[in-house]
Formats: sequence, C-alpha cells, structure tokens
Amino acid sequence: MTAKIIDGKLIADEIRKEITAETAELKEKHGIVPGLVTILVGENPASVSYVTAKGKTSKELGFHSIQETIPVGSTEEQLLALVAKYNEDPRIHGILVQLPLPKHINEGKVLYAIRPDKDVDAFHPVNLGKLMIGNADFLPCTPAGIQELLVRSGAALEGAEVVVVGRSNIVGKPIANMLLQKAKGANATVTVCHTKTRDTAMHTRRADILIVAAGAPKAVTADMVKEGAYVIDVGVNRIGMTDKGKAKLCGDVDFEPVKEKAAAITPVPGGVGPMTITMLMRNTLKAAKLRISR
Ligand code: NAP
Repeated sequence: MTAKIIDGKLIADEIRKEITAETAELKEKHGIVPGLVTILVGENPASVSYVTAKGKTSKELGFHSIQETIPVGSTEEQLLALVAKYNEDPRIHGILVQLPLPKHINEGKVLYAIRPDKDVDAFHPVNLGKLMIGNADFLPCTPAGIQELLVRSGAALEGAEVVVVGRSNIVGKPIANMLLQKAKGANATVTVCHTKTRDTAMHTRRADILIVAAGAPKAVTADMVKEGAYVIDVGVNRIGMTDKGKAKLCGDVDFEPVKEKAAAITPVPGGVGPMTITMLMRNTLKAAKLRISR
C-alpha cells in the first residue's frame, strides 16, 4: 500500500477561504473586523519569521493586524504592560505572545496575563480547562490543525485506536484530550506515549491513527506502524541546510518506508505546519464573533 499524502497546504487554503468569507460577513453584518496583535521580544530569526507570517496571513484574510516588537532586554513588567494595553483595546480580539521568551521573563506569568477571551493560542489554564471538559471556546492551534487534517482527509475517528507519541502541553496532551471527547470528529480510544513508556512500539503498532509529536528525527520507523494507519507527523527537525541555504527539515516519522505501509500520511514540511497559523486565524475570528454574543 502506498499512502495518500495529506496535503496540509491545500487543506489550510480551503479553511482560509472559509475564514475570508466569514470575516467579510462579520464586517458587513456587525461592523466587526477581527483584530490580532503579535508581540515579539527580541529578534530571534525564527521568531521574526513566525510573527511576520502571522501578520501577513492575518492581513490577507482581512483582519486588523498589529505587530509589536520590543527589545530583548525589556523587563517582564514592560511586557506585562503591553499585554494589559491590548487586553483593554476593543479593536483587538486576539493577543499572541511569540515564544520562546528571553530567560529573564516568566513565560507562564505572561501567558496567564492574557485575557482568556483574547487567548487565541489557547495556552491559558482557563481555556485548557474548558477543552478538558469539552466546552472550549478556542482550541490550541497545532492540535486543532491535526484534528482538521484527520477529519477533512476522511479518517474514521469514532471508535478508532489513536496513539499519540509525546505529552507536551502544546501538542500531545491537548490533542489526546480533544480526540477523547464525546463529540463529532473525536470519540476515539486514546493512548499517550512518552520517554518513560515501556514499549512505545507495542502501542504504535496497534494504532489506527498515529500522531507523532516527539521532536526526535525519524523516531517512528516502519516496523512501528500498522498497515493502513493514518499517520500525522507533527515533528519539525532541522537536519542541515539545502543547496539554497534554507534549513533542511525532517519529521519524527521515517517518511519514505512508512509511506509504503500507511493509508495516509502528512509530509514534513507541508503537513501540520501550514495548519497551525490557519487555526490561529480561525481562533481570532471566533474571538471576534464571541463579542457579538457576550
Ligand atoms: P516537546 O515539548 O519536546 O515534547 C516532546 C514529547 O515527546 C515529550 O513528551 C517526550 O517525552 C516525548 N518523546 C520524545 N522522544 C520520544 C520517543 N523516542 N518516544 C516516545 N516519546 C518521546 O515537543 P513539542 O513541543 O510537543 O513538539 C514536538 C515536535 O513537534 C517538535 O519537533 C516541534 O518542533 C514540532 N511542532 C510542530 C508544530 C507545527 O506547527 N508544525 C507545532 C508545535 C510543535 P517526555 O515527556 O517523557 O520527555
């Protein structure tokens, strides 16, 4: 069997068209333009490219977009003051503080200072708690992207054996919780593996749907995958440079041999990556829409 390639860019484009249409409708009917501010501390090149992409995408979708950059030496108080300013700004519906923050700033303190109704990354404990009880306003972006990829590529989630490799707060734990919910596009039986799991391969071999977010290049090999599985590779590992001087990437799954066994698989790049930004935009639109009803 050669797997169907799940094209994250194509699915993300499809969702962006939906967001553009809903944004235009929100403006026309309610006079509301979704507003997103990205806050960057310092000039880490990877972070600069992420916030630039977020700003560009939000403008393309018709959002009101602000990008704030403050020097790497800024104090925690200065950053908290900026968050407080946008917490009160009625034109802003979503606040994103780009991670990682410099070591002298307490990441948790800053993220928890964002008003939960503007927390479009869904990292605030209030939003994670709502996710856990199946009553989320916003879903964390990467897990939301994974769920959309599965649903839109026809994976049968209900009753499926799902195995998640990785238990981070931003990918592994939330996606496991989301797919466990008594809801459409979920209702799966979920197992989560980590570095203390006794026999990860024993679990992954049982998976109808295998989601790998380990941050370890090619950690999942073909012998660990069941024939006909859906495989979502979240990993982004830099393994050198291309001839054009760009970073050469690989996922957490040994793509070529696994492709010959799986029913469907996401590539790296071009799988989960394009979905993450798109889900951030969808959360911002949702935050703007929630203003109508509250
Ligand atoms: P993380 O915080 O480093 O967590 C990795 C998790 O994987 C940990 O729970 C770790 O277990 C587990 N793990 C590592 N190696 C393992 C192995 N060989 N077997 C079983 N479990 C293993 O990583 P993360 O933030 O979740 O990110 C994971 C990957 O996804 C990274 O490559 C990251 O760059 C990528 N990512 C991509 C996107 C995107 O938009 N495309 C977004 C977020 C992350 P322990 O808990 O026991 O240490």
